[in-house]
Amino acid sequence: MEKEYQGGVEDPLYILRHSTAHLLAAAVVDLFPGARYAIGPPVQDGFYYDFELPQRISDDDLPRIEARMREIAAQDPPFEQVMLPRSEAVRLFEELGQIYKLEILENEAAGDEILSLYRTGSFLDLCRGPHVPSAGQLQHFKLMRVAGAYWRGDERRPQLQRIYGTAWPDLAGLEAYLAALAEAEARDHKRLGRELKLFALDDRSGAGMPLWLPAGATVRRELERWIVDEEVARGYQHVVTPHVARLDTYRTSGHYPLYKDVMFAPMIFEDGEELQLRPMNCPHHAMVYQQELRSYRDLPLRIAELGQNYRYERSGELMGMIRVRSFCLNDAHVFCTLDQLGTVILEMFEIIRHYQDTIGMDQWWPRLSTRDTEKTKWTGTDEEWATGEAALRQALEQLGLEYELGEGEAAFYGPKIDFQVRDALRREFTNNTIQVDFQLAQRFDLEYVAEDGSRQRPVVVHRGGLGSMERVMAYLIEKYAGAFPTWLAPVQVVVIPITDSQFGFSEEIATRLRRGRLRVEVDTRSERMNRKIRDAQARKVPYMLVVGPREAESRAVSVRTREGAQWTEAVANFAAELAAEVAERRLRLRQAPAAT
Ligand code: ZN
Repeated sequence: MEKEYQGGVEDPLYILRHSTAHLLAAAVVDLFPGARYAIGPPVQDGFYYDFELPQRISDDDLPRIEARMREIAAQDPPFEQVMLPRSEAVRLFEELGQIYKLEILENEAAGDEILSLYRTGSFLDLCRGPHVPSAGQLQHFKLMRVAGAYWRGDERRPQLQRIYGTAWPDLAGLEAYLAALAEAEARDHKRLGRELKLFALDDRSGAGMPLWLPAGATVRRELERWIVDEEVARGYQHVVTPHVARLDTYRTSGHYPLYKDVMFAPMIFEDGEELQLRPMNCPHHAMVYQQELRSYRDLPLRIAELGQNYRYERSGELMGMIRVRSFCLNDAHVFCTLDQLGTVILEMFEIIRHYQDTIGMDQWWPRLSTRDTEKTKWTGTDEEWATGEAALRQALEQLGLEYELGEGEAAFYGPKIDFQVRDALRREFTNNTIQVDFQLAQRFDLEYVAEDGSRQRPVVVHRGGLGSMERVMAYLIEKYAGAFPTWLAPVQVVVIPITDSQFGFSEEIATRLRRGRLRVEVDTRSERMNRKIRDAQARKVPYMLVVGPREAESRAVSVRTREGAQWTEAVANFAAELAAEVAERRLRLRQAPAAT
């Protein structure tokens, strides 16, 4: 789908791109006699034009079309507005055989007595403008690709050929755009996921249901071990609960039928049982809470889970690992008293910030979503809302964080802070949230025994930590262009013996490192050393250890990093340094030690 152009028709960029679309059509009509042109609007980063052509074209034809565009631009014909009565315009387009323009005239322009057309050299288009004064001003453009597109997006109508291009006011703008595109392509997580064998999207698994392959599962397992350790260290208790619950549970929680359109269809069995794949973990954690009578001394009670969730996102919205239908959330629910709310929120900031810092998620900002007082869809009392919003706001202020305000964007059950993140491809997304909830305790009848012996309802705070494993995986792949920090790298070291005689020593090194829980391979293929180094580099393995007769004799290794640094050091030293790098979860590889 195209992102429509956001600026207005008076925007210089709009005018430039729209004019370049005319120039493209002019060139195509010249080169392909009989070509029919349909529509050619500006889009977010450029423009396109749809054609019915006497022959099928491909990207290989684009240089020729672009060259013709430049020839026309060099002649500098003006963009000339022609005002014609409707009948005259119809006659002109009939003469030209431009059936799509005639259809537009028939449908959309009905009622306009005098119509606006634009002429550029011999090319005539139905168009309101505005345009640049003359084609000579169009200099910094490039045709990008050819695609198929149905006339009016209707698959029963003729399939047209769409040519995409981009245009910029200056060469620097064009070059920066093309560089950013190349960068996005180089970092694209779907491509790298396939090349590095991290995950697979197999149609038989169902759309949006990724298969984590061994390399990707290794990265995920490292993240999960780390998450569980960090959370246990902060008083969270990890649980494991099923992926399904009785449908009634979601009636109680209020998700069904309110949230029904993103839930998988319920499973109805002959014995009357109705089960539901869970869209979130909250009800299960409420059940965990209720397995014991809780006292104020138990609070805050922090229940966490790496919980698998299922949401039936529409197929058009699925994207790689970014939008999926089955995902694992680093989730937690903290049950606390109203008085503890402030502290609990600060605690959550601490762990979320720690997660972000550790993986190098450096572009983020909080967004506070509050209640829209105009609306009535909210549940809970004014006092609860005020307390919740105040606690969130106070935390943000105490931490000195600037934040966006999303007025009226709270969930129906309480206010929240979203952590907005910008990824390597400059897309913004919500990575995780802190949500205050006054409803869950009520709906599930959660209680604790207060100091005075009375029964009270806890406040529930939902907390995403690192986000979903799938989304984080996509983020990390793109951020590091597949070259994960060593602690996450699927293979951390490849040992490369130069000849068969070093196999023994190579295995010895590998065994030693593996005992320290490092992931090591020995490349015993009968390939040349340079080939083995290239292959390990292509797999983005952080360290390569080249072992020849000299190294074997001195019990040393010749270290090469995937970034190209090289040095020689004792095996024991390398092992100790690598263990420290992994234990500290450093984001950067070692550099060559300074010569002493
Ligand atoms: Zn929740």
